[in-house]
Amino acid sequence: MSGLRFKAVEAAISRLDSIKTREKIKPSQDFGRNVFTTSKMKDYLPKNAYEELIETVDAGRSISHDLAEHISQAMKSWAIGHGATHYTHWFQPLTGATAEKHDAFFEPLPDGSAIEKFTASALVQQEPDASSFPSGGIRNTFEARGYTGWDPSSPAFIFETGGSKTLCIPTIFVSYTGEALDYKAPLLKTMNALDKAAVDVAGFFDKSVTKVFASLGIEQEYFLVDLSLFNARPDLQFTGRTLFGHMSAKGQQLEDHYFGAIPERVLAFMVDLEQEALKLGIPLKTRHNEVAPSQFECAPMFEEINLAIDHNQLLLNLMDQVALRHKFKVLIHEKPYADINGSGKHNNWSLITNTGINLLSPGKTPKNNLMFLTFFVNVIKAVHEYADLLRASIASASNDHRLGANEAPPAIISIFLGSQLNAVLDEVETARVAKKVKSENMLWHGIPKIPELQLDNTDRNRTSPFAFTGNKFEFRAVGSSANSAEPMTVLNAIVANQLIEFKSEVDKQIKKGTKKDLALLNVVRKYIKESKAIRFEGNGYSQAWEDEAQKRGLSNIKTTPKALDVYVSEKTEKLFEKLNIFNKREGEARHEILLENYFKKIQIEARVIGEIVNSLIAPAAFDYQNDLIVNVKGLKELGFKDGAYGSQLNLIERISSHINTILLDAEAMRQERKKANVLEDMRDRAIAYDEKVKPYFDKIRYHLNKLEQIVDDRKWPLPKLRELLFVR
Ligand code: ADP
Ligand code: MG
Repeated sequence: MSGLRFKAVEAAISRLDSIKTREKIKPSQDFGRNVFTTSKMKDYLPKNAYEELIETVDAGRSISHDLAEHISQAMKSWAIGHGATHYTHWFQPLTGATAEKHDAFFEPLPDGSAIEKFTASALVQQEPDASSFPSGGIRNTFEARGYTGWDPSSPAFIFETGGSKTLCIPTIFVSYTGEALDYKAPLLKTMNALDKAAVDVAGFFDKSVTKVFASLGIEQEYFLVDLSLFNARPDLQFTGRTLFGHMSAKGQQLEDHYFGAIPERVLAFMVDLEQEALKLGIPLKTRHNEVAPSQFECAPMFEEINLAIDHNQLLLNLMDQVALRHKFKVLIHEKPYADINGSGKHNNWSLITNTGINLLSPGKTPKNNLMFLTFFVNVIKAVHEYADLLRASIASASNDHRLGANEAPPAIISIFLGSQLNAVLDEVETARVAKKVKSENMLWHGIPKIPELQLDNTDRNRTSPFAFTGNKFEFRAVGSSANSAEPMTVLNAIVANQLIEFKSEVDKQIKKGTKKDLALLNVVRKYIKESKAIRFEGNGYSQAWEDEAQKRGLSNIKTTPKALDVYVSEKTEKLFEKLNIFNKREGEARHEILLENYFKKIQIEARVIGEIVNSLIAPAAFDYQNDLIVNVKGLKELGFKDGAYGSQLNLIERISSHINTILLDAEAMRQERKKANVLEDMRDRAIAYDEKVKPYFDKIRYHLNKLEQIVDDRKWPLPKLRELLFVR
């Protein structure tokens, strides 16, 4: 095996000579080249069909069968004209990956000839065999059918792999009885709820607002590792993270990687990735090194939320594909290496109107500022009311390594506003509200003017899970491997819910005769008071904050199985049912799926540890120990005294001690797994894996890393962290 390690290292080093990017495209010209955009539809659809489409989409109505027929023909002509041979519905089941099932356009005819065929019904609906996607018990095995349904708000695109081109149609995925089995269906529902609630509240200020959508810009962090080195590490292959490895002498302590010059081979990968992304209409704009060695980030320009999430999922697929061309492997695990920074997926979220106004951008006049304050404070209040649900929405086995560990944003949900806005809220809270407007410029109903925020100057707080950054909220605690739809569904829902409540409270006051401005202010001030506990400006990693948060009554749930409880609480069920997003059964099913996913991830890690320890590490350690024994025997034979082989004896003993501990722990861990596996209740099982199995990981890692430092480097079978992190 150590042979494999050295071959891998050699292969990795030799690649530095063969750096090349694929093709040069012109971004302004080729942007969206492989996407069937609305403007392309115009060229392919009859005029009246195109007009009907625009009207239907604007009004948010569903598309008629006749129109779908026109669109399917247009889509077919476009796709075939661009070399596509197959089509697929492209969806996001709860496995976390995207799914597709390809069908050929080609259809043989009875007379022996063939045509290319694509119908409206093939566009609108498919019935993939759903039985092997997670359903949390919703889909009985005897009724395994589920179906995918076209999402016309996310354009179809052509995906190229291995010389084949496939038309991909974004869809939702639901059970035969209509329950959501994916991430997109509930997200779309929250978008509607949020639109309606936000339009209603915006109506207090501006009647021309008829539509509000959430915007989302997703920053994606990731690690790159050489493909050969990756393949020589079973832990990376099967779990996406290193389960052992002594940190190299140099890690990130010099902080010389962050924003440093991008290594040439990596840059070639990035350039290729960006080109592919642009062709698919993903507006990738930024790239840079991140804090840890071999860690990088890319981010697109923000888009409408549904599209942004589809694009992020597509981007993850693209990253894998393009990386392979460059003999890299992309690690999107939240914590591939224990002792250096992990990866997140910052979700920058805002609310934008059909009139082009960002509702979370402070206005220039006091009146606009009241509109800003209204939406701003409603978000804060929503997060305060449903912090636990937001926490649950980002819970996963892999993200636990960040959130519980005083490293990335903590498991305590809080909001960072920056000193200026904090001061504004404090002033609004304590100001004496005047019944009369005093001055347009200075005080308005006693409300101070909001200082103009300089976007670039909004203080940054990297330790905050949820930060306001000038004209958007940035949910930073989301894990790098997550599907953003999960947290965004929750965020959309809780904000929609809050806006509905806000509107009803304001309406009540107006009905009682309070003037509109004052009614708005009253409720805003009430919300500021009620949600104070969630605001925190200090260091989120510190013990002091944990103590303070406890005093404030904020929860701090460090691990997934318990964080997920809130998904099935009465409060959550009510929220989702009221907004028509999940029924009780769907909520329970999701809870079950997430728990199952959790324990399986830990189970796989435990198995990989067992295998590596028993079949790779122990033999290498014994091998080296034997060398030492031969050495000692030889020295003795030659007549050397004790002192000449004292160090060797000491090493022999240390190897025995470490390897014994490791093997005993590995066996004890296996026994705990056996006990956990028979627990019927999924939550009990997940907790058993968390509390009984997982604690062995660190114990075993500790001794293994000690061995790594002792055993002859030539005999060590697994690529070391210095190789994984620094050969590129
Ligand atoms: P950072 O300093 O955190 O890296 P950037 O300025 O690079 O932030 O922006 C991060 C992301 O936020 C980008 O994807 C950007 O498009 C997005 N963003 C900017 N404005 C908005 C907005 N109004 N709504 C949603 N996302 C936004
Ligand atoms: Mg950011």
